[in-house]
Amino acid sequence: MTANLLDFDLEGLAAFCEQLGEKRFRAVQLFRWIHQRGESDFERVSELAKSLREKLKSAARVEAPRVLERHDSADGTIKWLFDVGGGNAVESVYIPEDDRATLCISSQAGCAVGCRFCSTGHQGFSRNLTTGEIVAQLWYAEHTLRRELGTQDRVISNVVMMGMGEPLQNYGALVPALRTMLDDHGYGLSRRRLTVSTSGVVPMIDRLRADCPVALAVSLHAPSDELREKLVPLNRKHPIGELLDACMRYLEAAPRDFITFEYCMLDGVNDTAEHARELVALVRARGIPCKFNLIPFNPFPASGLVRSPQQRVQAFAKILLDAGIVTTVRKTRGDDIDAACGQLAGDVRDRTRVDERIARQRTVMLKPVRGHVGDGKSV
Ligand code: SAH
Ligand code: SF4
Repeated sequence: MTANLLDFDLEGLAAFCEQLGEKRFRAVQLFRWIHQRGESDFERVSELAKSLREKLKSAARVEAPRVLERHDSADGTIKWLFDVGGGNAVESVYIPEDDRATLCISSQAGCAVGCRFCSTGHQGFSRNLTTGEIVAQLWYAEHTLRRELGTQDRVISNVVMMGMGEPLQNYGALVPALRTMLDDHGYGLSRRRLTVSTSGVVPMIDRLRADCPVALAVSLHAPSDELREKLVPLNRKHPIGELLDACMRYLEAAPRDFITFEYCMLDGVNDTAEHARELVALVRARGIPCKFNLIPFNPFPASGLVRSPQQRVQAFAKILLDAGIVTTVRKTRGDDIDAACGQLAGDVRDRTRVDERIARQRTVMLKPVRGHVGDGKSV
């Protein structure tokens, strides 16, 4: 089996070149052809001697997973479904805006965390993606879009690890992928424009701080352990207090001087005025520099949950804003192609019945708190 060069960061590619009996600096040239020019045919890498091109042809390849489907939304959002074998597929979403263009990338086929409100979580865990499969999503999207737009300039300015999977539970493959995205010979993204989103894998937040600090988003979703445990099962292992301590430590090395907290707004579950006030108290008590990103829940079949009404989201945001916390409400993009947060299922097998069973079990676990004190006031 030949080596897929998308699996290597520059350091790894240099080691591979050495194995082929080549000087390490050849790796820089090759890396630039692959990532900056989107080349996958070694024959066309004219900068390299014919003898090296021949060696590469027999020992290596540049291969992205096959595209199974592409959906273009009316708002410019594009979703690709990549076949990663064994009946699994993962999704990437391109989100163009006025001043930037973001690619949302997957890190795993499925996810083991099993958050109550997440379609990927309902699907269960299939497997970790390789570094090459993570990088290939950017490689493919960037160079496909450049061709379509007829430009040599960089198209994707930001990357968020917010697709399918928990990136910090695939740490070994994630870090070389991040390094390739950051590398000036690769995609040259700034650390501030590369975001890892996590449901709170505390020990890995510390490792990321040491190995490859990029912008961090933490999926909080609840102000108390009692509620968060029901929404994000990982909270039983790493409760909120430990998570916030890890966030404080992360800030010492982070490229941004705040942590982004994501908060999925679920009707009658975590969206009352009381919850908002608890959140304010929580972050104030810790003095943690943060921003909140409120994500209106994106429903999917079998979730058994409902999106908070817009008014309630606004009321919730106002409480945070009045307390001096920068808060944004995420615009939903790609609604017409099921490309919004948490709608990425990417499974090509029919698992509907399994999903329904899981959903039934989980609905019993989670009692909505609609009607409690505070809810009425916030509406
Ligand atoms: N596993 C990581 C990153 C992928 S999920 C994490 O959980 O952070 C990316 C974001 O989408 C997370 O904040 C997640 O909570 C949110 N999300 C998941 N399902 C959602 C849904 N159905 N509606 C809205 N947001 C959702
Ligand atoms: Fe996994 Fe993130 Fe979905 Fe939770 S929200 S199940 S951690 S992908």
